[in-house]
Amino acid sequence: MKRMFFIFLLCSVFFSIEAKEYKVEEIPLVHLADRTRYVSNPDGILSSSVVKAMDAMLFSLEEQTGIQTLVAVVTAVDGGNCFEFAHRLGQSAGVGQKGRDNGLVVLLSTEDRCVQFVTGYGLEGVLSDALCKRIQQRYMVDYFSEGDWDGGMLEGIRATCGVLDGSMENIAEEDEDVMILYIVLALTVIGVVTVVAVIWRDSRCPNCKKHDIQRVNSRVVGRSNGYITTETTYRCLKCGHIFTRQTTSFDNNYRGPRGGVIVTGGGFGGGRGFSGGSFGGGSFGGGGAGSRF
Ligand SMILES: [Zn+2]
Repeated sequence: MKRMFFIFLLCSVFFSIEAKEYKVEEIPLVHLADRTRYVSNPDGILSSSVVKAMDAMLFSLEEQTGIQTLVAVVTAVDGGNCFEFAHRLGQSAGVGQKGRDNGLVVLLSTEDRCVQFVTGYGLEGVLSDALCKRIQQRYMVDYFSEGDWDGGMLEGIRATCGVLDGSMENIAEEDEDVMILYIVLALTVIGVVTVVAVIWRDSRCPNCKKHDIQRVNSRVVGRSNGYITTETTYRCLKCGHIFTRQTTSFDNNYRGPRGGVIVTGGGFGGGRGFSGGSFGGGSFGGGGAGSRF
C-alpha cells in the first residue's frame, strides 16, 4: 500500500513537470496542414468532438466572411501571460488576410487560468474589445472556473462566430434592449395603474362615495404659463349632490377634465427620455480582450 502511494506520488510529480509551457513557435498550426482546421489542441485538453464542432463553425465563418481564426488550447504558455502570448502567436503565424487584417486568435491556457482574444485591425468594427470581454464573461469563464474546457470553448466560439457572421444580434446591444424593454414595461404598468386609479377616484361622488356621477358643464377659469385651469361641475345620480373640480393641464394638449390625462403625459414623457439615454454609449477600440477565471 505504501509502495502504491509512492508510485502515485511519483506519477503526480511526473505529470506536473509534464505540464508543458509552450513557446509561440511550438504551437502546432493545424490550419497549415488542413485548411478546414483551426483549433490547436496539442495537450488533448478539448475532446475531439468539440474540436470538430469548433473547426466546422470556424470553417463556415471563413467561407462566409474571409475571417481567419487560430484557436489554441494549452496547459501553459511560456511566461504565463495570455495577452502577450496571443499577440505574438497571431503575429508570427500571420493569422488573417493580408491587407484586410481580419485575423482572430483565441487562446486558452488552463494552468495560467486565462483566456485571451486578439483581433486584427480589420475586425475592430465588428468585434470590439468590449464585445470580446462580454463573450468571455457570458459564455466562457463560468465553464472554465468549473474546469469545463469543452463547454466554455464551444459556447464562446459559437457566440463569437454568431457575432462575426451576423447571425447573432450584437450581444452588447442585446443586453441593453432587454433592459430598455423592462423599463418601458415597468413605466407602462405604472402609467396604466395611475390612470385607472385617478379615473376611479375622480368618478366617485364625494358625498355618497358611489361611482355614478354625471358631468354637467365645464369652463375655463384660468390660463397661465402654458397651463389651462378648468372647472367642471358634476352631479351625483345617486344622491343628487352637486360639486365642482378644478383640473390643470397643458394648454396645447388639453383633452378632458380628468386629472389622469396630465399624469399619463408626464409619466410616459419621462420614460422616453430615460430609455433613449441608454443608447450610443459604447466605445470601439481594437485589439481584443482577456479574462481570468
Ligand atoms: Zn352621491
